[in-house]
Amino acid sequence: MCFIFGQQKVIVIDVGHGGIDSGAIGVNGVSEKDVVLDVGLEILRLNKTVLDNKLDIYLTRYKDTLISLTNRSKLTKNLKADVFVSLHCNASNLPSKGIEVYVHNWNNQNTKKSIALSIAVLDESTQKLGFKKRGVKFANFQVLRETTFCPAILVELGFVTNLDEADYFLKSQNIRAMALAVLLGITNYLNTRL
Ligand SMILES: [Zn+2]
Repeated sequence: MCFIFGQQKVIVIDVGHGGIDSGAIGVNGVSEKDVVLDVGLEILRLNKTVLDNKLDIYLTRYKDTLISLTNRSKLTKNLKADVFVSLHCNASNLPSKGIEVYVHNWNNQNTKKSIALSIAVLDESTQKLGFKKRGVKFANFQVLRETTFCPAILVELGFVTNLDEADYFLKSQNIRAMALAVLLGITNYLNTRL
């Protein structure tokens, strides 16, 4: 694989929840905070092993600790990030499945770029992994509202309330596949913007 970057881009992967905040609990007992940490750590590893450290990637947490939403955004600003991707899992009382990506619902200077990044990540994760594509959506999530200085998205990686998708996250090769899809979505976005 060959990627051409003018300079090393700074990517912040926001690993949702953590510590006392477990996020959603799956029908199989899996917790959202663990799934997103597994995916985040695997994105770091794949950047090293597959992309030869082409990207400069930071996580907002590297272990099972809680960090406030405001501090996630502050860290991203201090790092002068080029891209912010917040990782979450979905949950619903209704039968639901698939992946959706959120952009903040107020127009800002990075809205168009955030939508392009969303589509790139959504396409990689749904087309390559076979998840249902729920689309790009808009919401007033705090972590997106406070991260308007760079393209910023929140990815709902699948429903832990859906047994197939909850079980998917139990296997390390599936975590790797999901991490690769998010990483390739980011690099596809960056490559089209050179
Ligand atoms: Zn969440």
